[in-house]
Amino acid sequence: MIPLEEARDYVIGAVAPLAAVTVPLNDALGLVVVDDVASTEAVPPFANTAMDGFAVQAGDTSAAPTTLEVVGTIAAGDKGDMHIGPGQAARIMTGAPMPPGSDAVIMVELTTLSEDGKTVEIAEAVPAGNHIRSAGEDIEPGDLVFAAGTIITPGHLGVLASLGTFEVSVRRRPRVGVISTGDELVDGPGPLAHGQIRDSNRRTILALLDEAGFEGVDLGLVADNKESLTTSILAASQSCDAMISSGGVSMGAFDFVKVVLDEIGDMRWMQIAIKPAKPLAFGFVNDMPVFGLPGNPVSSMVSFELFARPALRKMAGHQHLDRPTVQAVADQDLLRRPDGKTHFARVVSEYIDGQYRLRFAGGQGSHQLRAMANANALAVLPDGDGVKAGEIATAMLLD
Ligand code: AMP
Ligand code: MG
Repeated sequence: MIPLEEARDYVIGAVAPLAAVTVPLNDALGLVVVDDVASTEAVPPFANTAMDGFAVQAGDTSAAPTTLEVVGTIAAGDKGDMHIGPGQAARIMTGAPMPPGSDAVIMVELTTLSEDGKTVEIAEAVPAGNHIRSAGEDIEPGDLVFAAGTIITPGHLGVLASLGTFEVSVRRRPRVGVISTGDELVDGPGPLAHGQIRDSNRRTILALLDEAGFEGVDLGLVADNKESLTTSILAASQSCDAMISSGGVSMGAFDFVKVVLDEIGDMRWMQIAIKPAKPLAFGFVNDMPVFGLPGNPVSSMVSFELFARPALRKMAGHQHLDRPTVQAVADQDLLRRPDGKTHFARVVSEYIDGQYRLRFAGGQGSHQLRAMANANALAVLPDGDGVKAGEIATAMLLD
């Protein structure tokens, strides 16, 4: 068995960030910006009012209460090119451009419009600049808007749109082919013969990819023979940036996936000092990284978290590859036996009164997917007897 860190270094060290591509904003959410993004425009593009009210000369309000002549109305979208002279005011709506001559806005709540609408009474004095959003107050032309390495969020998309930037240069979203293989597996809802089980890993792995912001490609349940596997994996290497298989990588496996990957790829077969997910195959077929995850449903998910997800995040250009970990209080005994391995227990973590608290999410067998499904964290239990109720454990948060 090799230590977890050695296996992770090997896998993560072997993959490289994908090429940069220019994508429309609609496709950019969650992707990593390749170059610094500089603005070519000012935001806001012109001085405008932050409030509904009256545009005035601030000096005129110093005698408040005072009455000014209303010379017009400026709505958002208007040019607002009327001139405001001394003793004058214009009704103005939030977002409308400040008319020339004016230097302050008095909000509508501090005004009383006359019945004929020709004059307005101002209740309070306001300083110059009052409620004005000046041109470029958020972003000036030439400003660094966000740096290379930024992960594009909905807010970033809004900033880019506000600058009139409709394409952005990002690391490509990894396209990841997923296959299942194993003679016992059945696709679809039909009846099971004795000895058969349904293929669940493919659903899970495709969803994990989706959730992580990658593009999963369902390559199906591939018949467990050399020809079918060779054809599918070679085809994947032409169209995908990476491939994930599950099953057939453990010591006792009969599956052909091992034979085929060794024949057409350059694979390393590892036994890692962790439980679940001890076996892992990792290597390349025609330069495409291949993750051969173990078949047990919990193992394949844990293996995805520990190896595939961080490696794929590196390919996507991310700097932070791992899920966050926290120190948490065990609400119950999280016991285990010494066996030379680090255990990843499926737990529910709750943040209560400033502290994370952990309890088992259900049965801890590597075939018991329900507990993994209900877990939102993995408790990291180093080799030994585990963690007693009230003691502190490290937990890797999955949501
Ligand atoms: P293996 O890694 O091929 O030795 O498989 C370990 C266990 O995982 C066996 O009980 C398999 O039946 C099960 N298994 C393998 N692939 C899948 C899958 N795609 N969905 C659900 N269970 C699977
Ligand atoms: Mg098998």
